[in-house]
Amino acid sequence: MITVDEYRFSKRKTLAVSIDPVGRVIVRAPKGYPQKKIDDFLQKKAAWIESHSRIKRERAADILPSSLDGYLLPFLGGQLRLVVSPVKRAKEESGALYLPMVNPESALKNWLKRQAREIFLSRTIYWQDKMGVRCRSVSVSSAKRRWGSCSGKDEIRYTYRLLYAPMEMIDYVVVHELAHIRHKNHSALFWKEVSAYMPDCFSRRAWLKKHALYLELF
Ligand SMILES: [Zn+2]
Repeated sequence: MITVDEYRFSKRKTLAVSIDPVGRVIVRAPKGYPQKKIDDFLQKKAAWIESHSRIKRERAADILPSSLDGYLLPFLGGQLRLVVSPVKRAKEESGALYLPMVNPESALKNWLKRQAREIFLSRTIYWQDKMGVRCRSVSVSSAKRRWGSCSGKDEIRYTYRLLYAPMEMIDYVVVHELAHIRHKNHSALFWKEVSAYMPDCFSRRAWLKKHALYLELF
């Protein structure tokens, strides 16, 4: 019997099962879909669900921290060693990030958000000029399901967790969101625009998909 971690009922027409980056089993189903049919479907897919969920749980256990102190945080393509120590506020020094003993995790998040604002804003300005577009605003979120977004009013948001990726991947998300100013969809024209500025956009996108687990970090 498969244990489902989360059901998402919506207006969709078909049933689907997926495994999230930490190995949780997610079932998406149309509203009011009979449980019996869901169970039969899961039964049929049981072998696939179990093996994929196990592989992802094992990967997550390797990457996700058991404790903050000593953890090697992926950061802009390199690593920062986290050190919880008697400092007043978070500070970076020669490859280590020192965190205060009181609320180290919130100190870490605040430090990351400060870096994120500065870096993402400057990359957005850089690419805006190249692409000849203007967004209305740039802000930093704590989103866990997406790296970035562009609203109908051209307000761009990036999750601070994008800092766990190398700079090329950050640039990909920037170009992707800026391309949404002209194309509010993922049409062929949208991808043509992204590719025009970044011919290897699909391999960068694949990297981010493969590292979706980073969205679960802190
Ligand atoms: Zn998009």
